[in-house]
Formats: sequence, C-alpha cells, structure tokens
Amino acid sequence: MRDAPILLTPGPLTTTARTRQAMLMDWGSWDADFNTTTASVCEQLLGIVQASASHCCVPLQGSGTFAVEAAIATLVPREGKVLVLINGAYGERLAKICQVLGRRFTPVRSDEVRPTCAAEVDRLLADDPTLTHVALIHCETSTGILNPLVDIAEVVAAHGRGLIIDAMSSFGALPIDARQVRFEALIAASGKCLEGVPGMGFVLAEKHALSAAAGNAQSLVLDLHDQYQYLARTGQWRFTPPTHVVAALHAALEQYQQEGGLAARHARYQENCRILLEGMATLGLRSFLPSACQAPIIVTFHAPRDARFQFKDFYERVKAKGFILYPGKLTEVETFRVGCIGAVGPTQMHAAVDAVAQALRDMHVVDI
Ligand SMILES: *Cc1c(COP(=O)(O)O)cnc(C)c1O
Repeated sequence: MRDAPILLTPGPLTTTARTRQAMLMDWGSWDADFNTTTASVCEQLLGIVQASASHCCVPLQGSGTFAVEAAIATLVPREGKVLVLINGAYGERLAKICQVLGRRFTPVRSDEVRPTCAAEVDRLLADDPTLTHVALIHCETSTGILNPLVDIAEVVAAHGRGLIIDAMSSFGALPIDARQVRFEALIAASGKCLEGVPGMGFVLAEKHALSAAAGNAQSLVLDLHDQYQYLARTGQWRFTPPTHVVAALHAALEQYQQEGGLAARHARYQENCRILLEGMATLGLRSFLPSACQAPIIVTFHAPRDARFQFKDFYERVKAKGFILYPGKLTEVETFRVGCIGAVGPTQMHAAVDAVAQALRDMHVVDI
C-alpha cells in the first residue's frame, strides 16, 4: 500500500498511527468503559483552558459547525441579539447561523488582512444596549489571521455581555485561559489542533449561562442544555455517540499531554509555520497576511502570477509527491493555503516546501 499523503489542511488533518489504532475496537455506548472515556475527555478539554471551575464541557455529535450552531441556539435567548465580528468566511458563517436560527444580529465586517478591533467593539456595544452577545472567530481559518481575543473579551466583559468564541482552529494550540478571558461559550472540535479525527464538536459553556438556557434552542439535537442535563444525569450521550471518534480523541489527548500539552503543541506548530514561511519565501512565494497577525495554524499564499500556474495542476503535482494542500478562500485575490497543524514536524514541512519547489519547476512557473 502506498503511504497516505500528509494533509496540510485545516482539518481533517494528519493523525498519528496510535490515534488511528484507538479506533480498532467497538464500544457499547451504555457501557461504563465508554462513559469513563467521555468523562475523561470532557475533563481534559476543560483543563486545557483552565475552565474546570467555571464551565461545563458539552460534547456534541457532528462537525465543528454543528457545535457552533448549537452554542448560539442554546445560549442566545430568542429575544437576544448578537454582535457578529467578521473578517473572513467563518465569521460570515456565524452571521448565517444567527439568520437561520432567527436570532437578531448585527454583522460588523472588517478587512480580511486586519484583526478585529477591540476599540470598535467597545463603541458598538456602548451604542447598542440591546446587544446581549458578541460572537468572534479566534483564528479565522479562511486566511489564518489571529484576532485579539484577550482585548475583545475584556471589552465584552466590561459591558456585561456574553462572549461566544469559535476557537475551532486554535483550541489546544494557542493559549486561552478561562480565568483571565471571560467567555460564555468556547467552541472547538475533535479534528483540529487536538489531532483527533473529525466527528465530534464540543462547547465549553459557562455554568450559570448553561443552566439558565433551558428552552432557548428550537432544535432538539442542537439543544446543549438538554444534552448536558442528560450527560450529567446518566454519564451517557443523549443519542448515539460517535464512539470511535471519542476513543480516538481520548488517545490523541493522551499524546497531547505526553508531548507537553499546549506549550509543546504551540511550539511545534510555530516551528512548522516558520519553516513553511521561510521555505516558501526562498521560492518567491509571498504570504497574504502581515506576519504580526499570522497565527501558526494555516498560511495563505498569493498564487504565482505566471499563466502557467494553475492551482488544480499544482495541487495534483504536489499531491503526487505526498502532500495535500488547500485552495484559497478569498474572492478578490488568487491564493492557496498550507496548514501547519496535525501530526507533522520539521521533516514534513521541509519536504512539503521541496515538493512545492519541484512542482513549480516541473510546471515551468518562473514569474512568481
Ligand atoms: C474548521 C472550522 C470550523 C468548523 O468547520 P466544520 O467544517 O464544520 O468542521 C468552524 N470555524 C473555524 C474557524 C474553523 O476553522
């Protein structure tokens, strides 16, 4: 069998053999062993952001977006109103979720190359006392930009509103401390920086906010209050859990702790990102974001100007050398993206840059 390609994408991403191995067994969803695994996973997820005292972990079946939608549906009352901070496609998705759920919202759009501005959030909250919540993307994966979570959380707390953070692509890799950053909900998933497989989202919900949220959700499966009540009462998931995904996440978390937790994961991704940026720069490939707001998660590169560069062709050539890249998500400029996350290190990142160099040479791309 030929080796599986390395995924340099923002999820699903490359996992270790040990994580995949953990899925080679079947579990009964009612069985005590599986319930212990669920409890251990939830406890560890809270621990990663020091939220065990203040928040509950509510796991949810599905991809990350299911958990984002569940958080908004459950925690924003029907008469609530959300300030949605947008500087990319995932921010747009937050607005779409509010719209579909019928929650009132104010979208604030800012440039894709600039982090959301905390002072502007301050002004908007002061101007509109009917805003009950603020929704923010921590790392906007559509470009790789890092938004100033600490500053924004401070402003939101000062105004006494609830903060909902989509930390999907940052959780476990970029530091967040719930004792300093006040939030009502923080959302992430199994298949990103924790290096599990996709299939489970989770919401770290502030205890009082969650217990006050009964009846808000107009969906049965996305009702996190109900999901949590059932879990707390029985130790089991309400509805069939993604057993193999939970087992893989449990194994991935074991390796996460052994690697050295958040600090070690952060350092490895930062090094991956540095090797990528430097290597691509030597090929003449320019990154889209200013380095000051570039998160070490995924990097957007300008596509070469050369007419001989076609992304599809480039993608196939790089894939043949063992690496899966990601298309750009910007409408204005031609770009492509390369992830720094997953069970990869310096060796893979250097090899990926070599594969890109070789592909460009083979395509006779000179005008970069
Ligand atoms: C990956 C991601 C999501 C969730 O996407 P799914 O396709 O539903 O898993 C949400 N927000 C951000 C910022 C992401 O990177």
